[in-house]
Amino acid sequence: MNKKELLSIKTTGELKKAKYKVLSVREEIRKNLLERLEKNQTIFEGIWGYEDTVIPHLINALVAGHDIILLGERGQGKTRIIRSIVNLLDEYVPKIAGCEINDNPYDPICARCKRILKEKGDDTEIEWIGRDERFGEKLATPDTTVADLIGDIDPIKVAQGRVLSDPEVIHFGLIPRTNRGIFAINELPDLPERIQVALFNIMEERDIQIRGYKIRLPIDVLVVATANPEDYTARGRIVTPLKDRFNSMIRTHYPKRRDIEIKIAKQESFLRTLGNGIKVEIPEFISNIISEFTMQARKSEEISKYSGVSVRMTISNYDIAVASAYKRAFVLHEKYAVPRISDLLYIITTSMGKIEVESIAEKSEVEILEKLFKKAVKVVFDEIYKIHEFEQLIALFRDDFKFEISDMKPSSEYSIIFEKIKDLYQLSSRLGGRSEAEFLASYLEFFLEGLYVYNRLSREAISGRYYYGANPYIRSL
Ligand SMILES: [Zn+2]
Repeated sequence: MNKKELLSIKTTGELKKAKYKVLSVREEIRKNLLERLEKNQTIFEGIWGYEDTVIPHLINALVAGHDIILLGERGQGKTRIIRSIVNLLDEYVPKIAGCEINDNPYDPICARCKRILKEKGDDTEIEWIGRDERFGEKLATPDTTVADLIGDIDPIKVAQGRVLSDPEVIHFGLIPRTNRGIFAINELPDLPERIQVALFNIMEERDIQIRGYKIRLPIDVLVVATANPEDYTARGRIVTPLKDRFNSMIRTHYPKRRDIEIKIAKQESFLRTLGNGIKVEIPEFISNIISEFTMQARKSEEISKYSGVSVRMTISNYDIAVASAYKRAFVLHEKYAVPRISDLLYIITTSMGKIEVESIAEKSEVEILEKLFKKAVKVVFDEIYKIHEFEQLIALFRDDFKFEISDMKPSSEYSIIFEKIKDLYQLSSRLGGRSEAEFLASYLEFFLEGLYVYNRLSREAISGRYYYGANPYIRSL
């Protein structure tokens, strides 16, 4: 049956006639997942670097029908994973029309729908609901209540004269309203213990307790939770029965390679659609510095391992570099927006607040980030050049020569150095070898910064401009 025919079905009777089978959420996900695997289709769209680590575990957990806990530091794509599980649901499924908890048309569990089905039989109206309506999400906070997650007594219905023991007076919370769908709970350990108990009851015992009333409510929900690994393993943060309920524990991680980090940044970048006749071109060494900077931060002893350093830092730094280059091209009427070191230097300050400095660190946040930036430049520079290849450029600075760079300096003003030292054209070929002024400016800034991190040149910052000069401590070269 095609989608149009399916969506034209309006009653439980018609549904039966069409031999429509209602599956449990786990069966439905398993069916769709296996079908896609068999057809070799993409299952987890836009998720990179997890092909051999996270994804095989995730597939097994979903086929097994497990509730899942994703353990990882911030910015490891946990939310994206959860969204991609939602995409494994059928595009549309039927529910009893008007039901707050997506009741199965053949076998409702709420008092209202049970009553309607009994009264109307095969004429019971149904409606079709999309995937997004079968997904609920909650960030666990210490003030999360049972009413939020499970439900509460609806005072309006009580005021209308219904008695408290009437199941129809319940106002359902987020989890029952995600019945026959996926419920995601972020930062599970932040959930107060008694709410964890309530969560366990609804997952395992399939009953809910509201203000002393115990009501059987066999809801069908796949629960996917996330947690920071340290919080999750810390004693007493998660009540044991709830921990046992998550049969699959999957550890996420940061991209292990720079190119994956950059692939994600490009995919998530806010600036993909910049146009206006300006061509945005990001040389590989620039992307590499941006991602290396994040990777250095993750390795740094001075930055909290507990908090981690999110891929979002790479994404936002990538955006800043592109934005800064684009702004220059726009204002100066240049043809290409090619990020340079003077654009990247902004990421030192924009990264503040995205990292958490360890309390033992003796340096300020800016000092730590500056050091990491230099290290990132050095790593990338070392992969391409040897310092002795730049003796001529270093020599140029001997007689008190200074060269100013800034994000707003016209690209055409960089070519004079290339004219003085023709070897630089040759050396540029390893960076892509483009001959347009915008590229040459980017290449030259990289050479100068490389010499600076090797202490062959000095760099002074004066109100947004940077001046390279001879390093007064190394006169004899
Ligand atoms: Zn219902």
